[in-house]
Amino acid sequence: MTPRAKTDSPRRVLVTGASRGIGRAISLALAAEGHPLALAYRSRRDAAEEVAEQARGHGIDATLLAFDVADRDATRNALEQEMAERGPFWGAVHNAGITDDAAFPSMKPDAWDRVLGTNLDGLYNTLQPLVMPMVRRHDGGRIVTISSLAGIIGHRGQANYAASKAGIIGATKSLAQELAKRGITVNCVAPGLIETDIVSEDAAKQITPSIPMRRLGKPEEVASVVAFLFSEGASYVTGEVISVNGGML
Ligand code: NAD
Repeated sequence: MTPRAKTDSPRRVLVTGASRGIGRAISLALAAEGHPLALAYRSRRDAAEEVAEQARGHGIDATLLAFDVADRDATRNALEQEMAERGPFWGAVHNAGITDDAAFPSMKPDAWDRVLGTNLDGLYNTLQPLVMPMVRRHDGGRIVTISSLAGIIGHRGQANYAASKAGIIGATKSLAQELAKRGITVNCVAPGLIETDIVSEDAAKQITPSIPMRRLGKPEEVASVVAFLFSEGASYVTGEVISVNGGML
């Protein structure tokens, strides 16, 4: 059991990268569980609005927030304004992420900086402004970060991406320890290869034979694990990295 709620505020959740792919599926799964949502997107307002419409079909309130998670000031400003209007969040999913692959000897500084800036700095930029307000709600909370199999075992051509995703695991475990006594759980989901825009057809063809289940995962198969981590049943699970990868080691 999580600590008894000391606030009547709705259990509102922020999802970044909510307009498509895994973030879209996570948003719809959390909406189905009755969580009001703030759907954060960078540029595709039309796609984010479509997700919000579907989410509202579950009878919850869904608002849109536009910011680039790599832009620290813009992210803080957007989140502080949202919290000033609607109160602190009960939960957050740091899902926004990019790849920019190259063999390490030819990896340009911009590819390193952009990937680390979005995936890892984006975690700090998004979660740091939310955490103290979450603590002050006094009704626990949930944070889920999205890492990757690459962050656990590495992947050729992805030194930048793997470093950012390994960093997410370290930050998640540390934050879990800091927030445990507040009843706020912090866990990481590490997908393998999932059918979204981030995965090229070539990569899918090349890697599928090495996946024990011989197929890519679906965004909904990641979202259902995130939804579990947001559920009452996961109230004693914190600091974990849960792989969703069809059996890849
Ligand atoms: P996707 O490209 O479909 O979605 C990525 C989302 O992140 C998009 O909504 C995009 O707008 C958003 N985003 C990217 N940069 C941003 C920025 N600077 N500011 C705000 N939003 C930004 O890819 P996806 O597969 O749905 O990826 C979601 C997460 O899952 C990512 O963190 C990715 O690294 C991770 N992941 C994906 C796979 C996979 O195989 N698809 C595997 C492991 C991990």
